[in-house]
Amino acid sequence: LTSGLETAWNKLKGEEGLTKENIVEPMRDIRRALLEADVSLPVVRRFVQSVSEQAVGTGLIRGVKPDQQLVKEHVNPMHWLAYLVCACDYAIVSDELVKLMGGEVSELVFAKSAPTVILLAGLQGVGKTTVSAKLALYLKKQVCYQEFHTPPSLIPSSYSPALALGKSCMLIAGDVYRPAAIDQLVILGKQVDVPVYAAGTDVKPAEIARQGLQEAKRKNVDVVIMDTAGRLQIDKVMMDELKDVKRVLNPTEVLLVVDAMTGQEAAALVTTFNLEIGITGAIMTKLDGDSRGGAALSVKEVSGKPIKLVGRGERMEDLEPFYPDRMAGRILGMGDVLSFVEKAQEVMKQEDAEDLQKKIMSAKFDFNDLLKQTRAVAQMGSMSRVIGMIPGMGKVTPAQIREAEKSVKIMESMIEVMTPEEREKPELLAESPARRKRIAQESGKTEQQVSQLVAQLFQMRVRMKNLMGVMEGGSLPSLSN
Ligand code: GDP
Ligand code: MG
Repeated sequence: LTSGLETAWNKLKGEEGLTKENIVEPMRDIRRALLEADVSLPVVRRFVQSVSEQAVGTGLIRGVKPDQQLVKEHVNPMHWLAYLVCACDYAIVSDELVKLMGGEVSELVFAKSAPTVILLAGLQGVGKTTVSAKLALYLKKQVCYQEFHTPPSLIPSSYSPALALGKSCMLIAGDVYRPAAIDQLVILGKQVDVPVYAAGTDVKPAEIARQGLQEAKRKNVDVVIMDTAGRLQIDKVMMDELKDVKRVLNPTEVLLVVDAMTGQEAAALVTTFNLEIGITGAIMTKLDGDSRGGAALSVKEVSGKPIKLVGRGERMEDLEPFYPDRMAGRILGMGDVLSFVEKAQEVMKQEDAEDLQKKIMSAKFDFNDLLKQTRAVAQMGSMSRVIGMIPGMGKVTPAQIREAEKSVKIMESMIEVMTPEEREKPELLAESPARRKRIAQESGKTEQQVSQLVAQLFQMRVRMKNLMGVMEGGSLPSLSN
């Protein structure tokens, strides 16, 4: 658990500030992480270059204020260290990722005069038909959600749009290649209580689009959503068909539905669709799966078009706006850094922090402090949550977490049976095997475990003092120049 951090720390420890040279290795780690997260290679290249320039140029880390915050972040020495090491590069990286993905939430655009037409396109099986119905439900509930602050999942599908002030929708079944595809949309339409316009499988999609649009105007619906047929691969017939449909519908939004599992292929896919038919944005589906969603990065970068919505499950309610910052966190596997900082500050009172800082400087960090820290961590929620919040530690396995929780408990039980004097002066324990033996007996642990704990405390003293020394020196390695 700690070895990876230690390595990262060691890489930057002696450094005065970020330079072109010393940033090479950390950037290599980041590059590897991005590639593993399915980001396409050209995007990674551009990205790494941009981050490197920024890191070297500014020397200042946006998002975290090192001088004010880092001193307080010693909830647990190891976590503190983790935070220090990782906040340095990941804050920049995360900022860049968010920018790459468009910075902010991109809202759907509505036509000035109804109906707004939304055309969905994408390969087979990516979730177009599912998204059609999800989107209708989403729009039906949208205003209701905004005005009454009710989570969409709590609003029943049968809720009348007129009452809910949401948008009334109509679906058009444009996948004429399989009768089952039309049935699927009809069934989903019933589920979300939205009318579906369907014609026979012998009618051309463009003609269905024309009829459907007419019907929608007659019914005075606010939004028409057209589902289309996909292919396994991009092919000319599909593209021509989409072009015809687009010409008939003159849609406000052309949304490319992309499966999050597509991986690096996503870049080529988005480029082709955008060149061929012209898209206004994308919807990324199946984000509830294993994929880390790196494909999301490529979309905006290669097409200039934002991801507007994401699908996170098979239920009709599982569609939500795309938040670039959350996606950046997911891609980096870094958890939520800022909420970690906030939580840490809540738990750790200011005086405690200053008191502790003095102790660290004079190498007097003792068992009381250690116990306080461990309890503070416990207060912050389960160990696993805390670890999840530490940047760069997203890949800790459940087994490792259980192991860590267990060792914290063991440590606590040993400290609890120490006398006040022993807690303040760990030297007493270092010098006396008899005391260690007593503690082992009273806590039900082995003498070896007690010796280990004592040794750990001294190691921590050294490590923390060194760290503080670096900070006292006026600059943190890689945090400022
Ligand atoms: P289409 O061929 O593009 O119309 O794809 P469908 O809408 O028929 O979806 C294909 C499969 O993916 C179906 O089994 C859906 O239930 C499933 N699916 C769609 N969106 C999601 C999602 O966000 N999460 C999960 N887990 N499954 C999804
Ligand atoms: Mg379909």
